[in-house]
Amino acid sequence: MTLSFSVLASGSTGNAFYIATEKEKILVDAGVSGKEMERLLNEVEIDPNSLTKLLVTHEHSDHIKGLGIMARRYQLPVYANEKTWKAMEGSIGKLELDQKFVFNMEETKSFGDLDVESFGVSHDAAEPMFYTFHHEGKKVALVTDLGYVSERIKKTVENADAYIFEANHDVSMLRMGRYPWNVKRRILGDSGHVSNDDCALALSDIIGDQTKRIYLAHLSKDNNMKELARMSVQNYLNEHGFTLGDKLNLHDTDPKTPTPLYEVV
Ligand SMILES: [Zn+2]
Ligand SMILES: [Zn+2]
Repeated sequence: MTLSFSVLASGSTGNAFYIATEKEKILVDAGVSGKEMERLLNEVEIDPNSLTKLLVTHEHSDHIKGLGIMARRYQLPVYANEKTWKAMEGSIGKLELDQKFVFNMEETKSFGDLDVESFGVSHDAAEPMFYTFHHEGKKVALVTDLGYVSERIKKTVENADAYIFEANHDVSMLRMGRYPWNVKRRILGDSGHVSNDDCALALSDIIGDQTKRIYLAHLSKDNNMKELARMSVQNYLNEHGFTLGDKLNLHDTDPKTPTPLYEVV
Protein backbone atom coordinates (compact mmCIF):
# COMPACT_ATOMS: atom_id res chain seq x y z
CA MET A 1 0.00 0.00 0.00
CA THR A 2 1.01 3.58 -0.37
CA LEU A 3 2.58 6.38 1.55
CA SER A 4 1.32 9.85 0.71
CA PHE A 5 1.72 13.33 2.11
CA SER A 6 0.91 17.01 1.74
CA VAL A 7 2.69 20.03 3.14
CA LEU A 8 -0.51 21.75 4.26
CA ALA A 9 1.13 24.97 5.38
CA SER A 10 4.74 26.00 5.63
CA GLY A 11 6.51 29.23 6.56
CA SER A 12 7.32 31.34 9.56
CA THR A 13 3.60 32.16 9.88
CA GLY A 14 2.36 28.60 10.41
CA ASN A 15 3.20 24.97 9.74
CA ALA A 16 1.26 21.75 9.31
CA PHE A 17 2.17 18.50 7.58
CA TYR A 18 -0.04 15.55 6.70
CA ILE A 19 1.21 12.01 6.06
CA ALA A 20 -0.89 8.93 5.45
CA THR A 21 -0.82 5.21 4.84
CA GLU A 22 -3.81 2.94 4.53
CA LYS A 23 -4.17 2.74 8.31
CA GLU A 24 -2.65 5.96 9.63
CA LYS A 25 -3.57 9.56 8.83
CA ILE A 26 -1.21 11.72 10.80
CA LEU A 27 -1.00 15.45 11.27
CA VAL A 28 2.39 16.79 12.30
CA ASP A 29 1.95 20.20 13.96
CA ALA A 30 -1.07 22.44 13.64
CA GLY A 31 0.44 25.92 13.56
CA VAL A 32 -2.58 27.78 12.21
CA SER A 33 -6.06 28.28 13.70
CA GLY A 34 -8.47 25.34 13.88
CA LYS A 35 -10.63 26.90 11.20
CA GLU A 36 -7.64 27.38 8.90
CA MET A 37 -6.52 23.78 9.55
CA GLU A 38 -9.92 22.56 8.39
CA ARG A 39 -9.75 24.74 5.28
CA LEU A 40 -6.29 23.41 4.39
CA LEU A 41 -7.33 19.78 4.88
CA ASN A 42 -10.44 20.40 2.85
CA GLU A 43 -8.34 21.78 -0.04
CA VAL A 44 -6.58 18.43 -0.41
CA GLU A 45 -9.84 16.55 0.23
CA ILE A 46 -8.90 15.12 3.58
CA ASP A 47 -11.72 14.64 6.04
CA PRO A 48 -10.43 15.80 9.44
CA ASN A 49 -12.55 13.02 11.00
CA SER A 50 -10.25 10.50 9.33
CA LEU A 51 -7.18 11.76 11.23
CA THR A 52 -5.68 9.22 13.62
CA LYS A 53 -2.92 11.13 15.44
CA LEU A 54 -1.30 14.46 16.03
CA LEU A 55 2.49 14.69 16.37
CA VAL A 56 4.28 17.76 17.66
CA THR A 57 7.78 18.96 16.74
CA HIS A 58 8.16 21.82 19.24
CA GLU A 59 6.16 24.41 21.13
CA HIS A 60 6.66 27.51 18.95
CA SER A 61 3.31 29.06 18.07
CA ASP A 62 3.83 28.61 14.31
CA HIS A 63 3.63 24.86 15.08
CA ILE A 64 0.96 24.58 17.77
CA LYS A 65 -1.47 27.46 17.29
CA GLY A 66 -4.42 25.20 16.37
CA LEU A 67 -3.18 22.08 18.13
CA GLY A 68 -5.44 22.09 21.17
CA ILE A 69 -8.51 22.92 19.10
CA MET A 70 -7.84 20.15 16.57
CA ALA A 71 -7.07 17.61 19.30
CA ARG A 72 -10.30 18.39 21.17
CA ARG A 73 -12.55 18.75 18.15
CA TYR A 74 -11.46 15.48 16.55
CA GLN A 75 -10.48 13.64 19.75
CA LEU A 76 -6.99 12.99 18.56
CA PRO A 77 -4.20 11.42 20.56
CA VAL A 78 -1.31 13.90 20.73
CA TYR A 79 2.36 12.88 20.81
CA ALA A 80 5.24 15.06 22.02
CA ASN A 81 8.30 14.64 24.20
CA GLU A 82 8.04 15.52 27.88
CA LYS A 83 9.87 18.84 27.71
CA THR A 84 7.66 19.96 24.82
CA TRP A 85 4.54 18.91 26.73
CA LYS A 86 5.66 21.05 29.64
CA ALA A 87 6.56 24.01 27.44
CA MET A 88 3.27 24.05 25.52
CA GLU A 89 0.94 23.26 28.42
CA GLY A 90 -0.04 26.88 28.96
CA SER A 91 -0.85 27.56 25.31
CA ILE A 92 -2.90 24.60 24.04
CA GLY A 93 -5.75 24.52 26.55
CA LYS A 94 -7.00 21.46 28.32
CA LEU A 95 -6.56 17.97 26.91
CA GLU A 96 -7.83 14.76 28.45
CA LEU A 97 -5.17 12.65 30.11
CA ASP A 98 -5.88 9.75 27.79
CA GLN A 99 -5.13 11.99 24.79
CA LYS A 100 -1.59 12.74 25.91
CA PHE A 101 1.26 10.52 24.79
CA VAL A 102 5.01 10.76 25.13
CA PHE A 103 7.19 10.42 22.05
CA ASN A 104 10.80 10.60 23.14
CA MET A 105 13.63 12.06 21.15
CA GLU A 106 15.61 9.44 19.18
CA GLU A 107 12.77 6.97 19.43
CA THR A 108 11.03 4.91 16.75
CA LYS A 109 7.35 4.17 17.17
CA SER A 110 5.36 1.75 15.06
CA PHE A 111 1.89 3.06 14.37
CA GLY A 112 0.04 0.35 12.47
CA ASP A 113 1.68 0.20 9.06
CA LEU A 114 3.85 3.30 9.58
CA ASP A 115 7.12 3.59 11.52
CA VAL A 116 7.98 7.05 12.79
CA GLU A 117 11.47 7.93 13.96
CA SER A 118 12.21 11.12 15.88
CA PHE A 119 15.50 13.01 15.96
CA GLY A 120 16.61 16.06 17.91
CA VAL A 121 17.56 19.35 16.28
CA SER A 122 19.40 22.44 17.44
CA HIS A 123 16.72 25.14 17.71
CA ASP A 124 15.68 27.58 20.43
CA ALA A 125 12.80 25.55 21.87
CA ALA A 126 12.55 23.20 24.90
CA GLU A 127 13.40 19.94 23.13
CA PRO A 128 12.71 20.34 19.42
CA MET A 129 12.59 17.21 17.30
CA PHE A 130 11.58 16.23 13.80
CA TYR A 131 10.63 12.98 12.16
CA THR A 132 11.31 10.48 9.41
CA PHE A 133 8.46 8.25 8.24
CA HIS A 134 8.98 4.71 7.00
CA HIS A 135 6.54 2.50 5.13
CA GLU A 136 7.44 -0.54 3.02
CA GLY A 137 10.92 0.68 2.15
CA LYS A 138 9.79 4.25 1.46
CA LYS A 139 11.09 7.09 3.56
CA VAL A 140 9.96 10.69 4.00
CA ALA A 141 11.95 13.17 6.09
CA LEU A 142 10.60 16.33 7.70
CA VAL A 143 13.44 18.71 8.59
CA THR A 144 12.68 22.34 9.44
CA ASP A 145 13.41 24.67 12.35
CA LEU A 146 17.05 23.92 12.96
CA GLY A 147 20.14 26.07 13.31
CA TYR A 148 22.44 23.70 11.47
CA VAL A 149 22.35 20.26 9.97
CA SER A 150 24.64 18.02 12.01
CA GLU A 151 26.37 14.92 10.67
CA ARG A 152 24.12 12.88 12.91
CA ILE A 153 20.97 14.35 11.37
CA LYS A 154 22.37 13.81 7.87
CA LYS A 155 22.89 10.14 8.70
CA THR A 156 19.32 9.81 9.99
CA VAL A 157 17.67 11.45 7.01
CA GLU A 158 19.96 10.31 4.18
CA ASN A 159 18.52 8.87 0.98
CA ALA A 160 14.86 9.62 1.69
CA ASP A 161 12.33 9.40 -1.14
CA ALA A 162 11.15 12.88 -0.26
CA TYR A 163 12.39 15.75 1.87
CA ILE A 164 10.51 18.60 3.40
CA PHE A 165 13.58 20.66 4.12
CA GLU A 166 14.03 24.10 5.58
CA ALA A 167 15.24 26.95 3.36
CA ASN A 168 14.39 29.73 5.78
CA HIS A 169 16.26 32.78 4.57
CA ASP A 170 18.65 34.29 2.13
CA VAL A 171 21.62 35.38 4.21
CA SER A 172 22.10 38.76 2.46
CA MET A 173 18.39 39.60 2.58
CA LEU A 174 18.41 38.87 6.28
CA ARG A 175 21.60 40.84 6.92
CA MET A 176 20.38 43.90 5.02
CA GLY A 177 16.77 43.64 6.17
CA ARG A 178 14.91 45.54 8.84
CA TYR A 179 15.13 43.00 11.67
CA PRO A 180 16.89 44.16 14.84
CA TRP A 181 20.40 42.81 15.21
CA ASN A 182 19.57 40.45 18.09
CA VAL A 183 16.83 38.83 16.00
CA LYS A 184 19.20 38.51 13.03
CA ARG A 185 21.73 36.86 15.30
CA ARG A 186 19.14 34.44 16.59
CA ILE A 187 18.12 33.38 13.08
CA LEU A 188 21.69 33.09 11.84
CA GLY A 189 22.89 31.29 14.97
CA ASP A 190 23.32 27.60 15.66
CA SER A 191 19.87 27.27 17.18
CA GLY A 192 17.99 29.40 14.66
CA HIS A 193 17.06 28.48 11.09
CA VAL A 194 18.75 27.00 8.01
CA SER A 195 19.54 29.41 5.14
CA ASN A 196 19.07 28.66 1.44
CA ASP A 197 22.81 28.03 1.11
CA ASP A 198 23.00 25.70 4.12
CA CYS A 199 19.95 23.87 2.84
CA ALA A 200 21.64 23.29 -0.52
CA LEU A 201 24.85 22.16 1.14
CA ALA A 202 23.05 19.66 3.38
CA LEU A 203 20.94 18.34 0.51
CA SER A 204 24.04 17.67 -1.59
CA ASP A 205 25.22 15.36 1.22
CA ILE A 206 21.97 13.48 1.84
CA ILE A 207 20.30 13.06 -1.56
CA GLY A 208 20.50 9.40 -2.58
CA ASP A 209 19.40 7.09 -5.41
CA GLN A 210 15.97 6.89 -3.87
CA THR A 211 15.43 10.68 -3.63
CA LYS A 212 12.78 12.09 -5.95
CA ARG A 213 11.28 15.15 -4.38
CA ILE A 214 12.53 18.04 -2.29
CA TYR A 215 10.06 20.53 -0.84
CA LEU A 216 11.72 23.78 0.22
CA ALA A 217 10.02 24.68 3.46
CA HIS A 218 9.62 27.19 6.29
CA LEU A 219 10.55 30.18 4.09
CA SER A 220 10.74 33.47 5.94
CA LYS A 221 8.12 35.96 4.80
CA ASP A 222 10.56 38.86 5.15
CA ASN A 223 13.94 37.38 4.32
CA ASN A 224 13.31 35.02 1.43
CA MET A 225 11.35 34.50 -1.78
CA LYS A 226 10.31 31.22 -3.37
CA GLU A 227 12.21 31.92 -6.61
CA LEU A 228 15.33 32.93 -4.74
CA ALA A 229 15.25 29.83 -2.53
CA ARG A 230 14.66 27.57 -5.51
CA MET A 231 17.39 29.19 -7.64
CA SER A 232 19.93 29.09 -4.81
CA VAL A 233 19.36 25.41 -4.13
CA GLN A 234 19.04 24.50 -7.81
CA ASN A 235 22.26 26.25 -8.81
CA TYR A 236 24.22 24.68 -6.00
CA LEU A 237 22.92 21.20 -6.76
CA ASN A 238 23.58 21.62 -10.49
CA GLU A 239 27.13 22.73 -9.77
CA HIS A 240 27.61 19.65 -7.63
CA GLY A 241 26.61 17.07 -10.18
CA PHE A 242 22.88 16.65 -9.53
CA THR A 243 20.51 16.79 -12.47
CA LEU A 244 17.21 18.36 -11.58
CA GLY A 245 14.03 18.03 -13.56
CA ASP A 246 14.19 14.40 -14.54
CA LYS A 247 14.00 12.03 -11.59
CA LEU A 248 14.78 14.61 -8.95
CA ASN A 249 12.63 17.71 -8.50
CA LEU A 250 12.37 20.78 -6.31
CA HIS A 251 8.96 21.91 -5.08
CA ASP A 252 7.69 25.04 -3.38
CA THR A 253 5.61 25.13 -0.25
CA ASP A 254 3.29 27.91 0.85
CA PRO A 255 1.82 29.25 4.09
CA LYS A 256 -1.72 29.22 2.69
CA THR A 257 -1.84 26.68 -0.14
CA PRO A 258 -1.26 22.98 0.54
CA THR A 259 0.94 21.00 -1.84
CA PRO A 260 -1.10 18.44 -3.82
CA LEU A 261 -1.27 15.09 -2.07
CA TYR A 262 1.73 13.15 -3.36
CA GLU A 263 1.94 9.41 -3.38
CA VAL A 264 5.51 8.20 -2.89
CA VAL A 265 6.25 5.72 -5.67
ZN1 LIG B 1 8.76 27.22 12.88
ZN1 LIG C 1 10.55 27.01 15.76
